Amino acid sequence: MKMTDKKVLQEYTLDQDQELRFEVESKTDKVYLTLKSGIAEVFGTEIVKGKTYEFTAGAKIAVYTWHGCVLEVKGKTDVIYTAKETPMVIYSNCHGALEFMRIEAEKDNKRGPIAMLVGPTDVGKSTISRILLNYAVRMGRRPIFVDLDVGQGQVSIPGTVGALMIERPAAIDEGFSQEAPLVYNFGHKTPHANSTLFHILVEQLATTVKERLEVNKRTRASGVIINTCGWTKAEGYKQLLGSAKAFEVDVIMVLDQERLYNELVRDLPNFVKVVFLPKSGGVVERSKSIRSEARDQRIREYFYGTVRNSLYPHSFDVKFSEVKICKIGAPALPDSCLPLGMKADDHMTKLVVLTPNAGLLHHILAVSFSEKEEEVITSHVAGFVCVTNVDAERQILTILSPQPKPLPNNILVLSELQFMDTH
Ligand code: ADP
Repeated sequence: MKMTDKKVLQEYTLDQDQELRFEVESKTDKVYLTLKSGIAEVFGTEIVKGKTYEFTAGAKIAVYTWHGCVLEVKGKTDVIYTAKETPMVIYSNCHGALEFMRIEAEKDNKRGPIAMLVGPTDVGKSTISRILLNYAVRMGRRPIFVDLDVGQGQVSIPGTVGALMIERPAAIDEGFSQEAPLVYNFGHKTPHANSTLFHILVEQLATTVKERLEVNKRTRASGVIINTCGWTKAEGYKQLLGSAKAFEVDVIMVLDQERLYNELVRDLPNFVKVVFLPKSGGVVERSKSIRSEARDQRIREYFYGTVRNSLYPHSFDVKFSEVKICKIGAPALPDSCLPLGMKADDHMTKLVVLTPNAGLLHHILAVSFSEKEEEVITSHVAGFVCVTNVDAERQILTILSPQPKPLPNNILVLSELQFMDTH
């Protein structure tokens, strides 16, 4: 072990089918990774030999090798060890089975596999989605990635469901490129905050994704990988069944939870293959505060980009009268007070126009694509802005926006998510 600039520089030699796992915890620390020889990958993306990758606070990484490699790690890691046992062969077999289905689909010009990952939180669902998508795209496929995890999703910011066409492997240190994602605003960090709305959005997203599969032959044969959130009990289980039905899934991969596996085998039609997968010993459990930090970081990256790819957002004023700020969901009324023909559920999807007020401060607002109020709920969004000041006297909001003024639409939908712009 050598010391340079008070930073630890260490070399690790891995045999075939092993992985080096490490975490970067502290906000001030950075860890640099270089592949010196052999072949290795990070969650399915191949590492370029000799190139140095930088990881910042919160990163929890596994560098896996099929054939053996030598790695150099510089900087202070919170935990670092080599694991000899990994489920990578099992995950790779899953990829093999999906690839077989794609080849069959291609022959008959049919739809490739629609696969969904389910399981409790922190079992590696997002990581396996990424591995499977990376393997597919490395074989020349163009799958669609759907993320229904409204808390810790990989498409757009938290509080949304969305889809991305995957055209190249995820960047080792930054994940999938976020070019032209299809995003629907849900506005909460857990689906149970508004189950009715969540289900409507999932159905809407499924319809749009299926339309995209129809128009692109290569994508059609490549299929879809769907990541879900970790809410698997009671209403959460019903949501999973609803999502599986909406997307017409062919394969469900259940991680770590045998009870859930058995329930799905029992409740899904026979043509849906349900597979049980073990979780990797490397998956790190995240505390509530780490999850909340991760959400913050994703929103910060949405506006300001990453170390490697900085973005420069705009800050400008809009008059209260220039925008229409809406909220989805009205306070519940007892059944006896509901207008004739209205179900108790309906209030959860009611669009309420708000008078701008100090309560909007730091809130995220979704910029709707729709110009008609009645279509706002099911319409996807153009992007997001954050309210950084409310001046009630002058009737002005100050807004942080990825795009300069004017806003592409004057209908803005309030999200429960907040972001403190301390940049
Ligand atoms: P889930 O989607 O089920 O909540 P994730 O896939 O997000 O779980 O995994 C949780 C955390 O564990 C992530 O930070 C991820 O980077 C990390 N992780 C996953 N697999 C490994 C592994 N084999 N070694 C080290 N860290 C891992």
